[in-house]
Amino acid sequence: MNAPERSHLLEQGLNCIKDFPVLSTSVHGKPLVYLDNGATTQKPACVIDAESQFYRTTNANIHRGVHRLSQQATDLYEHARDRVRAFLNAAHADEIVFTRGTTESINLVAQSWGRANLQPGDEILITGLEHHSNIVPWQLLCQDIGTVLKAVPINDRGELQMDAYAELIGPRTRLVAVSQVSNALGTVNPVDVIVRMAHDAGAKVLIDGAQAVAHQPVDVQSLDCDFYAFSGHKLYGPTGTGALYAKRELLRDMPPWQGGGDMIYTVSLTESTFADPPARFEAGTPNIAGAIGLGAAVEYVRGLGLDRIAAYEAALLHYMTERMQGIEGVRLIGTGAHKAGILSFVVEGIHPHDLGTILDAEGVAIRAGHHCAMPIMTYFGIPGTARASLAVYNTPADVDALVRGVRKAQELFGTE
Ligand code: PLP
Repeated sequence: MNAPERSHLLEQGLNCIKDFPVLSTSVHGKPLVYLDNGATTQKPACVIDAESQFYRTTNANIHRGVHRLSQQATDLYEHARDRVRAFLNAAHADEIVFTRGTTESINLVAQSWGRANLQPGDEILITGLEHHSNIVPWQLLCQDIGTVLKAVPINDRGELQMDAYAELIGPRTRLVAVSQVSNALGTVNPVDVIVRMAHDAGAKVLIDGAQAVAHQPVDVQSLDCDFYAFSGHKLYGPTGTGALYAKRELLRDMPPWQGGGDMIYTVSLTESTFADPPARFEAGTPNIAGAIGLGAAVEYVRGLGLDRIAAYEAALLHYMTERMQGIEGVRLIGTGAHKAGILSFVVEGIHPHDLGTILDAEGVAIRAGHHCAMPIMTYFGIPGTARASLAVYNTPADVDALVRGVRKAQELFGTE
């Protein structure tokens, strides 16, 4: 994208600020500038309304009731599943398991697929760019069953070392688990290449799409990944919602990982038989209203257009990167060639937490810390970074507010 194209996109914007009620509020008497979208996004009125409408008009438990409301609630819940299917371009709705989010989706794969398919000595390959959610579940599994956890190293730009990946993947590798976009640095990983190489080696692939689904089109069929995990709340949907996509033939052979109502076929006092997927993996009463809200969120994002969102956020990231690079004393962490809307940085002489507090006083919300990615911070030899992360409603004016806030912090600390 050239400079005139970028300015044109930034001038036009996505015209969606009005959809997000919270964005018209203020913080410490200043208009809210919300740049903490990597942690969670704000919710459009259509998502808030979908949840509240459900509670006002249709609330009932699903799948079990013979009464009218229960049937309507079940229809809405299953309709939401089909919306998620369409959003990811999965072939079948029964390949979508509703979960509490990315973390639960990954734990589901570790505890169900992992325990059923992995032997001591088998290898799981993750990367040095993962969120703790895509590290700890594998460590727990390895401790329990004797599998071996390996990680692809990163380079000084915060990119995966793909030659090391080629060396690490081998006949013992049974699973590769990788994020599509790094939450701490914004690096976009070459997941298409990773999937192909993993499959050539006979390994399955799990993609952590937590930071990807809201920012670029995702097509699980063309990616050909075996598992895809994401969270609803980073996609303008409710907290405590999310999904796991898994290929039908894999889900069919996976054992349950949690027992309870709704996931069984028959139960006696000594044994049970289990429902087909996805019910087998949705024990107990799920977050029905949340799933319906998630369905509304994916429709909202589809309405804006994922290609449009990706282009707009790329232009805004470029603007933010240029402006922040122009401040003396600011060092960007994560300067890979392919990045999505996340900028991590440190400011000389100011702890990221102090910076976050000063920005907050200016109404600017960013994140400060290790971003649940401590291995990345260890690699760069820093305790944490400040992180500004973009969403559809952010504008160049938000970036300008961030820049003003950073300069103010430098003045206060006498480091300008
Ligand atoms: N993976 C990545 C890349 C993330 O950014 C996050 C959250 O920040 C997660 C996993 C965990 O998501 P959740 O807490 O919604 O389960």
